Amino acid sequence: MLKYAHFFIFITVLLTASAQTGPILPTPAVYQRVNGQFVCSGNLVVDPSEINPALLQSFKDLAKWSHQMEVTPSVQNPMVSFKKLTNVKQDSYSINISERIVISYSSDASCFYALTSLFQLATKQDGQVSFQQCFVKDYPKFQWRGLHLDVSRHFFTPEEIKRFIDLMAYYKFNTLHWHLTDDQGWRIEIKKYPLLTEIGAFRDSTVNEHYTTYPRTYNKVRYGGFYTQEQVKEIVAYAASKYIQVVPEIEMPGHARAALAAYPQYSCTGEHLGVEGLWGVFDDIFCSKEESILFLQDVLSEVIPLFPSAYIHVGGDEAPKTRWKACPNCQAVIKANGLHDEHELQSYFIQRMDAFLTANGKKLIGWDEILEGGLSPNATVMSWRGYEGGIAAASQGHDVVMCPGSHCYFDHYQGKGSDEPLAIGGFTSLEKVLSFDPIPANMTVAQAAYVLGAQGNLWTEYIADYQKLEYMAYPRAIALSTALWSETKPSYNDFLAVLVKYHFPFLEKKNVNFSQTCLKPEIFTKRKANGGIEIYKTPAKGIIASEELISSIPAAKRKIKAHEIVIDQGKSIPAKQINVVAHKALGAQINFQTPPNPKFDNGSLTIVDGQLGARPWKGNEWLGFNTDSVSFDIILEKPIKVKEIRIHSLHDPNSWIWSIQGYEIQLIKFGHGVNISEDYNMDETFILKIKDKKVKQIHVVLYGLPKIPEGQPGAGNTPWLFIDEIEIR
Ligand SMILES: [Zn+2]
Repeated sequence: MLKYAHFFIFITVLLTASAQTGPILPTPAVYQRVNGQFVCSGNLVVDPSEINPALLQSFKDLAKWSHQMEVTPSVQNPMVSFKKLTNVKQDSYSINISERIVISYSSDASCFYALTSLFQLATKQDGQVSFQQCFVKDYPKFQWRGLHLDVSRHFFTPEEIKRFIDLMAYYKFNTLHWHLTDDQGWRIEIKKYPLLTEIGAFRDSTVNEHYTTYPRTYNKVRYGGFYTQEQVKEIVAYAASKYIQVVPEIEMPGHARAALAAYPQYSCTGEHLGVEGLWGVFDDIFCSKEESILFLQDVLSEVIPLFPSAYIHVGGDEAPKTRWKACPNCQAVIKANGLHDEHELQSYFIQRMDAFLTANGKKLIGWDEILEGGLSPNATVMSWRGYEGGIAAASQGHDVVMCPGSHCYFDHYQGKGSDEPLAIGGFTSLEKVLSFDPIPANMTVAQAAYVLGAQGNLWTEYIADYQKLEYMAYPRAIALSTALWSETKPSYNDFLAVLVKYHFPFLEKKNVNFSQTCLKPEIFTKRKANGGIEIYKTPAKGIIASEELISSIPAAKRKIKAHEIVIDQGKSIPAKQINVVAHKALGAQINFQTPPNPKFDNGSLTIVDGQLGARPWKGNEWLGFNTDSVSFDIILEKPIKVKEIRIHSLHDPNSWIWSIQGYEIQLIKFGHGVNISEDYNMDETFILKIKDKKVKQIHVVLYGLPKIPEGQPGAGNTPWLFIDEIEIR
């Protein structure tokens, strides 16, 4: 069995779902419960004259899929009747359940949403189906409610894609962003260029473990697959029948190695490099010469008719300019078009695609890098590196889809435990996803009007099969849908109560391999009153009870001590082991002159809690800064003798994180030591020996790289500086 497969948690205290919110997720605008049940034998009689045949079919399919129920069309004594609403908010619907069921809807999509809500109100027992009597009034807050799925890094079959769509529809998502091409595989048949799939859809090897694990090893099994145009049409039609638009992504000019393996003449060098088996960002991208642009427009010509969606995604992210700088063809394009640099060249490239798509009745959408060098006139921006790209695009009057890594990347870890399956890094808990608002506080009302909505992104470097895809997507997708749909978002505890009581059993019934990480006890660290730390455990989430003190560790007086604390997490969950190095600054007060970035601010105790961050890193174990220097003071409980200071940082250039390049340490009253490396420092730990000084306060300045060097991912940007511990011995 797969290591991330289900475990079961036996909840000893009843979770109480609030009567005000009811069982429906995403939470409807209004839910009023009435005493009583509408009971039927598992067959709903519907007057077919009141809805169109497509909706009647959806009704039958949903009934079967959710509760093994039948829907029978008949004008004789119908149990369910439908009414059309006018002059209401877009996609509004209401449900009234008393002696019969009345559904009022404003659009076909809203009728479908009403049906998904209706079946969430149903329970089945001994062949009888009961519907809670109630009144529901509902409409979506945002119009773009999406999930993104990368099928390049790992391939999912058409059947799996349909299964994915079924769940999306049940939770009222309406957009599937289908990431069809990348360095590691081209997944869509293009008839004019058959080598794109013959060669580009298969790679000869795949990197094992995490790509930051050295030495790297490779699985040499040939891997791949693609969708024929017929399969694409079938999937798109299937999604459309559930009111989901499919937005295809054809990546350009970067993430092009699979295409260039098939047609190397469209790169800058013409070199044969093969389909990539490693994850990351690669220098070889599409050349900006006319032949390459025409090739991509040919590809788009075949993609456009397959997708009724108004949008075509052209990627635009992570395109290093290394090859373009050295390419005579690219330099000639710069000159001929009066461009200033390679960023403007990328902008030119995207504008050519924008003009082409616009002429073909489509809208271009791309990742926020398409802002660099000037935004193309009709472009919609997908803001992933934070909210800033979205704010910039909105202030220029462009539509925006938000998907900041902090809240919307479902390839991040969802739990802190070492039993979580391997993920790319980062930490995005269920609670954090629910707290997401696509409109950040610093956005003006005028800018906010351009925010179409948001989506969750499932990049699949570390999601090799469908079981794990479900584990990473659910239940976080339900939290995201709630954040995007619900005008009045429930509190996390209310959301969790409904999720666990009604939806976990349903997902279980549908054999969905969802994660139950949100129910695990939480383990956290606090400062001890007079130096040192205390480790606490809360009982399983959703149960109101007090925290339990597990361990109390004083700061070291003389010798450094290593503590191993084993925490029992309850039935069927492996015990958690925490290793604490009790050094002299354990639990010390930290005063920051440079505050951590809010995205990676886990509290100042993080760097004096005696716990070193694991690799691959999880966001919660570090303090992250995106400034080139960081300064703070460590204030000790009382003057102590210091022999050695160890500074632990993180080096992960693929994530734009560079280790500390130098430091300045000032032992208050005893002068200071400076150490700046001459070369790029790749070491994650700096060790500074001190001649047994007695100190009370230490002033620390840490220097990062001012800019990421050429040829490295994110070249030219300020790198992140991540610290997990300042150890004083
Ligand atoms: Zn070129």
